[in-house]
Amino acid sequence: MNFISKLPDVGTTIFTIMSQMAEDYKAINLSQGYPDYDPPLELKERLNWHVNNGHNQYAPLAGIAALRQQCAFKIKEYYDRDVNWDTEVTITPGATEAIYCAITAIVQPGDEVIMFDPVYDCYDPAVRLSGGVPIHLKLCSPEYSIDWRQVESAISSKTKVIIVNFPHNPTGSIMSDDDMMQLEEIAVKYDLVVISDEVYEHFVFDGKKHKSVLSSPKLAARSFAVFSFGKSFHATGWKTGYVVASALLTKELRAVHQFVTFVAFTPVQFALADYMASNPEHLQSLPSFYEKKRDIFCSALKESRFIIKPSKGTFFQLADYSRIADVPDKVYAEYLTQEVGVAAIPISVFFDDPDSESSRVVRFCFCKEDDTLASAAKLLCAL
Ligand code: PMP
Ligand code: GLN
Repeated sequence: MNFISKLPDVGTTIFTIMSQMAEDYKAINLSQGYPDYDPPLELKERLNWHVNNGHNQYAPLAGIAALRQQCAFKIKEYYDRDVNWDTEVTITPGATEAIYCAITAIVQPGDEVIMFDPVYDCYDPAVRLSGGVPIHLKLCSPEYSIDWRQVESAISSKTKVIIVNFPHNPTGSIMSDDDMMQLEEIAVKYDLVVISDEVYEHFVFDGKKHKSVLSSPKLAARSFAVFSFGKSFHATGWKTGYVVASALLTKELRAVHQFVTFVAFTPVQFALADYMASNPEHLQSLPSFYEKKRDIFCSALKESRFIIKPSKGTFFQLADYSRIADVPDKVYAEYLTQEVGVAAIPISVFFDDPDSESSRVVRFCFCKEDDTLASAAKLLCAL
């Protein structure tokens, strides 16, 4: 057959590879980011109820009204922004689909899209599939923050979009007020569309608050803000997320979304709408829930030879193993999984040029039962 692969270089995602390896070697899986506990019981019961009571056909294209209304309430409460639930909120089958549709809706062939390494894996391929050119800048160590002067010098007449992701996977860094101001200034000055991946919005620790682009009127007008129920309700397998964007941008997003998946899974939407309405405290409990898990894991690793990096948000923890081994991170992650019994993610895979990343750092995921974290830490402390 005569065809040219559109993504000849991407292979299988590291998350799939490491989870499979964890299963093959019966390792504790701290690699791919998903909880080893269930969504809240009441939420599962609502899902059952809706499946058994006739909510099994296509939802409206933008998502059911009750869930979009709940999202709009939440955005008002957390980010003090009035959004029109009908014209500005779209329910999607996960944040990944939302990001794909936002990129596909906006990026024209030749457009440049700025993103920051280490970068979550789904942005670059989506940009290239639209004929766009990913421009990879690096977050600055040790804080993994954005160098805004570098951003400004990377902007050309072809720059169309900037993609930001805070709280940041894999480093756990968060945005400051100053970052938000700089983003606003640059986006307005150069007329950029912002795609803001905020799937870890509720996992910000140490008394800090998540900064959403939706809190800034100027950014809200030119952004797709992307969220994931999978993260916030311990249900990554339910693959349901949403996008908040101006009516103008939403119209473009939905034009693509209707031909990618058309709609998101119906009964989950009803279940989430019910649960959000009757359990507003759930989201409020998340920062302390995950901060406690981070602290349990990190304090259990105190006696180890890993150097623990600060994790200000997300459910990920970076650990520097340079005092233990001097091998590339992929080799070390495989060793941890196969020989030690704890699966981790090498972070070089989050770089455009993985060979340029020579630091000795792996990512552990701490959205796990406390016992799981303790067992993993025990094995890691023996190294
Ligand atoms: N963005 C980031 C930064 C993520 O870590 C994830 C994790 N899965 C996603 C997007 C995708 O979320 P979803 O599972 O809702 O597609
Ligand atoms: N976002 C998850 C992580 O970073 C994985 C999701 C996926 O496997 N695509 O671990």
